[in-house]
Amino acid sequence: MRLTRIAAVAVVAALALGAAACGGDDDKSSSNKFPAGSTMAKLADAGKIKIGTKFDQPLFGLKGLDGKPAGFDVEIAKILTKELGIKDDNIEWVESPSKVREDYIQQDKVSLVVATYTINDARKEKVSFAGPYFTAGQDILVRKDDDSISGPESFQAGDKKVCSVTGSTPAKNIEQYLKDKTAQLVLFDVYSKCLDALKAKQVDAITTDNVILSGFQSQNPDAVKLLGQPFTREPYGIGVKKDDKQFRDWINDVLEAAFKDGRYKTAWDATLGTNVKMPTALTVQRY
Ligand code: GLU
Repeated sequence: MRLTRIAAVAVVAALALGAAACGGDDDKSSSNKFPAGSTMAKLADAGKIKIGTKFDQPLFGLKGLDGKPAGFDVEIAKILTKELGIKDDNIEWVESPSKVREDYIQQDKVSLVVATYTINDARKEKVSFAGPYFTAGQDILVRKDDDSISGPESFQAGDKKVCSVTGSTPAKNIEQYLKDKTAQLVLFDVYSKCLDALKAKQVDAITTDNVILSGFQSQNPDAVKLLGQPFTREPYGIGVKKDDKQFRDWINDVLEAAFKDGRYKTAWDATLGTNVKMPTALTVQRY
């Protein structure tokens, strides 16, 4: 009787140990595939992540009724989080207007930023980039009935107001075409405010990447039109902590694999669809 009880206790203890060992293995299984101490291992272990994106840009990152953003940038981010073993419900989306993206990465408010984010040298001083996963170009959106603006040169006379977003590359690029920056350049924190200002005739145009403007146009086809003559190159990168080369390289590996195996196309078809032509190749810049 006594022996039986001891045996029973031993069995229970063994089962408990076994379960603990299994639990331990389970916990580690997602991070095991990543080098110890890497950002990938840390995120996989945590099982959750904060990601910066836009909330007001149709096609790329637009907050829906469920409170979550939807669009191509969101889908690109989800390709990465799936590889990390993080469930969609465990992603905290952080609205990241153009001006705050570097700050949010530097201050650890987000682990990565996927937000129509142009890779350039000035930004590389503060953060690092994987990608590009797409290349856009700066363009101009005007009211549908306005034929007086045909390109950035139309601002040289000084009588037209153009709207863009603080901290964006298009806001900087357009300056060279303006006669009087103070009078002509209207800056907000997000592009949807520019759209309101354009419709209300407070400004004559919006300038930013063609694909962002194309999202606004597809939502307001009777009110606005896109010139369709891009005049810069805006390679979109995924922003991460400066000098986290291991994380950057891993993201580039995943982007390349996703382009090859069709996950990129699935993300594209579900969001950009026929609004924008899908690139035929993806060439990341490794550094
Ligand atoms: N791609 C440009 C940039 O990163 C414009 C779009 C944006 O502001 O997000 O500044």
